[in-house]
Amino acid sequence: MVFLSFIFMAAFMVSTAFGLDIVRDGKPVAQVVVSPLPTDTEPRRGFQPDDAMAAKVLVDWVSKMTDAQLPITAAPTDGRPAIYIGEAAVKAGLKLNDIQSPTNEGLRIVVIGQKALIGGQSGVATVRAVCRFLEVIGCRYLMEGPLGEVYPRLKTLHLRDFSLTEKPALLSRRIWGSQWAGETLWKIWNGAGGLSLETGHSWGRYIPQSLFHEHPEYFRMNADGQRVPSEWLCTSNMDLRALFSQRVIEAIRKGRIYPSISPPDGTAYCQCPSCKAQDNPNAIEPSSGAVSMTDRFVDFFNYIAQRVAEEFPHSILNFYCYADYTQPPAAHLNSLQTSAHGWLQFAIAASTALEAQTAHRINN
Ligand SMILES: [Zn+2]
Repeated sequence: MVFLSFIFMAAFMVSTAFGLDIVRDGKPVAQVVVSPLPTDTEPRRGFQPDDAMAAKVLVDWVSKMTDAQLPITAAPTDGRPAIYIGEAAVKAGLKLNDIQSPTNEGLRIVVIGQKALIGGQSGVATVRAVCRFLEVIGCRYLMEGPLGEVYPRLKTLHLRDFSLTEKPALLSRRIWGSQWAGETLWKIWNGAGGLSLETGHSWGRYIPQSLFHEHPEYFRMNADGQRVPSEWLCTSNMDLRALFSQRVIEAIRKGRIYPSISPPDGTAYCQCPSCKAQDNPNAIEPSSGAVSMTDRFVDFFNYIAQRVAEEFPHSILNFYCYADYTQPPAAHLNSLQTSAHGWLQFAIAASTALEAQTAHRINN
């Protein structure tokens, strides 16, 4: 499993001023301005991140803190403190288009006087902007479910003027788990999102075993020197590389814009002399004690990346750092083509996470 923690680049400024009254003595003071208004109907499946849902999250959490129910309106009352959400905030003067986010996830909060403007460059970013606003107040959502909700209990909620601008520093932040499919508030709150990069075991998708009879040399050699039909391939074979590249290009053409090129699960690596010649016998995978497969696979992935980049220079190819290839390459670093593809950096980050995962018990 690949888990990438995320880092946000933030500019955070606080200045003293009289600020915004949200709740006073348990009574709602501020109005929440959003358009269109949220409906009472919860989405049947998953979380629909948009302005209306962001407003509901804000009202819900302010209620948790203070028992006050902030009114939601599309037409604010003049003179009443107001918290504008998403597009309503942009119409009220919030600037978002100066935030340079390649995944369109920049967000900004501005509190000035009796007005708060909260918005993001996408629905997810606007919901996250509300989450960040709540964090400034003291809320945290540490794990999925009510037990993970942390918030202060207050009679009066008052904020001083401040502004906050953020964007994700990583293109993709993703975590897997049986309870974590789709969008959830907990995931959005904690930064999940960005590009959908495919990372599954993939080789069989590109090179079917039905090719074995015609081209046994495309497939792995076992320790007895026999070619064996399976999803494991002979990655040093140049014809196999050419065909694999072509199949990846075809997959991108059909819509898998960030495809996986990950090997199959397991450790059935090709034992042919030319594949083994790519391995560094002194590079040992620490989780197993076996010779690292990173060098041979990175050489293969790099070849595929170069061919794919000729037609799709902006695609990102992805692979697990897994099994006996969790370590950065011991060789070939000077020859890697990193300019057109971000996958190498991605892989090294993933490798670091996996190393931490495999080197320690969960309670150690
Ligand atoms: Zn081989």
